[in-house]
Amino acid sequence: MKYLDEFSNPELARRLLDRIHEGTTRPWAIMEVCGGQTHSIIRHGIDQLLPDEIEMIHGPGCPVCVTPLEIIDKALEIAARPGVIFCSFGDMLRVPGSSADLFRIKSAGGDVRVVYSPLDALKLARENPDRQVVFFGIGFETTAPANAMTVYQAKKLGIENFSLLVSHVLVPPAMAAIMESPTCRVQAFLAAGHVCSVMGTREYPPLAERYEVPIVVTGFEPLDILEGIRRTVLQLESGRHEVENAYPRAVAAEGNPSAMAMLQDVFEVTDRSWRGIGEIPGSGWRLSARYREYDAEQRFEVTSMHTAESAICRSGEVLQGLIKPHECAAFGRECTPRNPLGATMVSSEGACAAYYLYRRLELVETGHA
Ligand code: SF4
Repeated sequence: MKYLDEFSNPELARRLLDRIHEGTTRPWAIMEVCGGQTHSIIRHGIDQLLPDEIEMIHGPGCPVCVTPLEIIDKALEIAARPGVIFCSFGDMLRVPGSSADLFRIKSAGGDVRVVYSPLDALKLARENPDRQVVFFGIGFETTAPANAMTVYQAKKLGIENFSLLVSHVLVPPAMAAIMESPTCRVQAFLAAGHVCSVMGTREYPPLAERYEVPIVVTGFEPLDILEGIRRTVLQLESGRHEVENAYPRAVAAEGNPSAMAMLQDVFEVTDRSWRGIGEIPGSGWRLSARYREYDAEQRFEVTSMHTAESAICRSGEVLQGLIKPHECAAFGRECTPRNPLGATMVSSEGACAAYYLYRRLELVETGHA
């Protein structure tokens, strides 16, 4: 299958691995930013094939995992109200809030629906003019254009019973926050290819320069990741810190100008909290003044809320790359994908879920889980 099989070719993977082994002389810590990359690295055992000197640190690029508890609690409160149809992608339904999740709200009578696109929610709003339809708009720069387009359409068509619960976050400020952290061990980044396919690469040279850190835009298939690592190691070993695009089949330096224009019209930059990490200045989007009437937080007046994280979940440390998932005492015991205590165990892009799916048996055998 074009663009899948050809990027998983074992012979080419072996050649790339040989070059990485030949070129590595010292220990290096490389963060893959995106949860999709984490999933691929663990699924294919890429980290186990790398030289011992290379440590892959799993970054915070899982949109479900970093959605703050306060927003989840706001979603639960809105979804429980009579007259509301609350629409979300399926992976948000099991994310634990302070005391429940969207599945529990649904089983208690809330009208919670799984949709496959924000436009499905807009269609529901047209079909149900006497109900309030809310779409849970979370994620990185990758999912934001579709949500922006939906709000734009709602305004253009005069659909007033639609609103968006927005929790969009931006990758470059999070990379800066990671580098600023006193506990940071990251020496290089594999940047998230899908994010760059929308936003291009122009935000990265100032980061590479300021933190003297190589940034290689990388895809998601095994050969993409190995090529990203190979280029990163080459830079690290030669003392360079540049931005390279190792994913040119999807990423152009200028990004997607139409999507960026839509984003600029509908959203504006704001401070955002990241679950497990805390507030990062300028790291998110909210609806711009022109579209503020479609903001579900304002429409339903869910402002400040009291939140309570699980006392034993260490997903904040997992999301910052400070511990590996199996170093959490609850991993595979109290916390499993069927009974997740933290968002990193819910999402298929979460590091805890990836370790549980692909490493659990191995970790059990070695006494780590
Ligand atoms: S294993 Fe579960 S409890 Fe531990 S950090 Fe991951 S999500 Fe949280």
